[in-house]
This record gives sequence, structure tokens and C-alpha cells, in this order.
Amino acid sequence: MGSTLPNIAEMSNGRHSRRDYERLDRDDGLAPCRQHFQLPEGVVYLDGNSLGPLPVSTPGRLQQLLLEEWGTGLIRSWNEAGWIDAPTRVGDKIAALVGAATGEVVVTDSTSVNLFKLLAAAVSLRGGRPVVLTEVPNFPSDLYVAGGLEALLGARCELRVVERSEVPARLGDDVAVLMLTHVDFRTGEVHDMAALTHAAHEAGALVVWDLSHSAGAVPVDLHGCDVDLAVGCGYKYLNGGPGAPAYLYVAERLQSSLTPFLAGWMGHEDPFEFGNRHRPAGGVRRFLCGTPPILSMAALETAIDLWAGVDLDLAWEKSRGLTSSFIELLESRLPRGGFEIVSPRDSASRGAQVSISHPEGYRIMRALVDRSVIGDFRPPDLMRFGFAPLYTRFVDVWDAVQNLVEVMEGEEWTRPAYATRLTVT
Ligand SMILES: *Cc1c(COP(=O)(O)O)cnc(C)c1O
Repeated sequence: MGSTLPNIAEMSNGRHSRRDYERLDRDDGLAPCRQHFQLPEGVVYLDGNSLGPLPVSTPGRLQQLLLEEWGTGLIRSWNEAGWIDAPTRVGDKIAALVGAATGEVVVTDSTSVNLFKLLAAAVSLRGGRPVVLTEVPNFPSDLYVAGGLEALLGARCELRVVERSEVPARLGDDVAVLMLTHVDFRTGEVHDMAALTHAAHEAGALVVWDLSHSAGAVPVDLHGCDVDLAVGCGYKYLNGGPGAPAYLYVAERLQSSLTPFLAGWMGHEDPFEFGNRHRPAGGVRRFLCGTPPILSMAALETAIDLWAGVDLDLAWEKSRGLTSSFIELLESRLPRGGFEIVSPRDSASRGAQVSISHPEGYRIMRALVDRSVIGDFRPPDLMRFGFAPLYTRFVDVWDAVQNLVEVMEGEEWTRPAYATRLTVT
């Protein structure tokens, strides 16, 4: 695809009309990617960090899978339509987005389940070192999963949750594994993956990175950082659809020494041998458990295929351009008082997300959503806006800020309907 990007540096001179942002879109070499997504007319979608939009090609692919592969092919499709290889085939495609090699990523289960599998294997491999070290602001499900492992293993596992600034100093010789989420889901802050992985290795620990807000949003170089283990989500920036299967990565050098405790037949060296003893498959496939969800897998693969041929450096540069211009517009146009930009100003330490806090953040976000500007809310007071390089436009940045200014000026957020919380925020 194209190799041009609007000159973002120029933007700090101030761009003051929607037309300036339309011009940025005209200069954007990735602009043609947007037509591959079925985004409703008039909607400014800035929540791809929670649920990516529907690719245009997905309904047709699912229809084909249902009617031809399942309807006509029936059980033959496990072989003939390549269903049985989907977890590793789609895994290899994701590997290209996160700096991993072929044979190191497999698509399976949910992020939470995959994290449990890898933590259990890592703690067992580093036997005698019981600690899973992590930080207070980690994603809650990751903390719950590690807590569950601690409850199961008793004295053989201790979850230690410390403040972010304390992490390097707490990498003692009792730590089996350092478990971190690369991009903070609240603030969008990005960890230094290379430095923290190196520090963990110096201390004799393994690392497991959660890439749920990273793959498809920011550069990730698992090999360059010598990462041991990783997990990530398929339904956010990868656009696999609600509840899409997740993925896990195991560095090749570790694959044969890690035990898959959630040992299911799909992770067996030869599932169709039907022997009574589990022999783990040689590669990353040993971390499969049960039968893959082929419908969801096909939706994810269709979405991942949209990355084929995309210049990744340009994509990451575009995400930074979108978030930088959003922050600049917020700073120049938002009313003073109440709002605070909590995401890092330095674009190198920021994911493809900008979070702003306001004591009435929940109600303000509801008013924005009613104007078809869709972001989301996280307690206690965070409004989150995600900017995906394949489909977010620069005019979306302008329109989001324009609507936010109007919501505040018209005090639209004070409507009584916004006082009660919906189930999914
Ligand atoms: C979204 C997300 C998850 C999701 O986990 P599931 O088990 O797939 O629901 C896990 N970790 C992080 C950091 C996330 O952002």
C-alpha cells in the first residue's frame, strides 16, 4: 500500500478547520484500507480498542463456511477446508504483526485462559521460585487469573502485585515470571518491553506480556526483545468479532520444556491416535486444549488477512499521528476545568489510545455516544478513545473533538437518562 503520511509535525502550528483534517486524509497512504470495513454512515468509531468493527469480507466468508464447508462438506471439511490447521495457520499470520516467527503463535481459547496456561507452565519450569510478579494497574482479569493459580498451587505460587515504579527493584531471585500488559488499558501508557524483559532475564525470571492493546495498534518486536511468552486478544485491534479467539506466543527455544497442564486432545502430538496418555505436541500446538471454534476462527482470519501488504511502519506512524492530533485539538479546544489528559504526551510511550478524565466522564461519554461519537468509559472517571490505523480518519479526530466541545457547551451530559449505568460501559 501507499507510503505517504501527512506531516504531523506541521500540525503543532495549529490546524483550525475540518478542511485541514480532510486534507490529512487525502495525503494518508493507508486511507484506502478503510473501505474494507463496514462502518455505519455518520458514526465516528473510536472504540476499536474494545471491539473492532466488522470487515466487509467477513459476512461472505462466514456464509461460505456455513453453507459450503459445514453444510455440504460436513465433517470432511476438517481436512478439506483446512479447519484442523486453523489455530497454527492464523497464529502464523498474527506472528508477523508482533515480531514472532512461524510456529511460535497459536490461536486458541480466550486471553484469560491462555494466560493461565502459560503462567502455570512458567511457574512449574522455574520450580522453587514461587513468585508471579506484576503491577497494580494491570488488567483485572490478568490479576484474577494469577490469583486463581496462586489459590490452586498453595505455597508453590505467590502473586506479588507492586506499584509500577517498584517492578524492576522487586525482580528478586524468588521471581519465576514477570507478568505485564504492554499497553495500559486505562492510560494507554506503553511499557519498555526490551528493558523490562532484559531485567527479568538478568534476575533469572521468565516474562509473559499481554499484547491485547498492542497487536494491530503499536509496534511489537517479540524476538527483538527476546520475549519468552505472550498472550493477546483477537477482538480489539485485530477485528476478529465479539468473543473472537485469542492467541498465545511461546518462544521456540522454550516450547519443548513447557508443560501444557490444561492438556487436551488438540494439544496431543497425535490427537487421532486416541491413546490414554497425553503426549504434548512438539511445538506451540501443545498449548491447544479442545476443539477450535471454527466459525469465530474464520472471522478472525478474514480480519487478519486485511493486514497483508500493509506497511506496518506506516500504520504505527499513523496511529501516533491520530493520537497526537487528537491531544493537540483537545488542548486547544476543550473548555478549561474538569478535564485532564491522562495518556502520555510523548507519542513513543503511548498506545493507539487517548484517555481523558473528568468527574462526569460517564455521562459525558453517554452524550457523545448519542451523537454517534463512540468511545468508552472506565472507572473511576476515564473516557477512552481508540485510534486504529486501518480505518480511523483524521476527520474523525476533528469530529470527535467538535462534538465533545458541543456536548460541554450545551450541557447535554446533564440529561437524567445518563445518570444510570448500562451493563457494558
Ligand atoms: C481485553 C483484554 C483481555 C481480555 O481477556 P479475555 O479473556 O479474552 O476476555 C485480557 N487482558 C487484557 C490486558 C485486555 O485488554
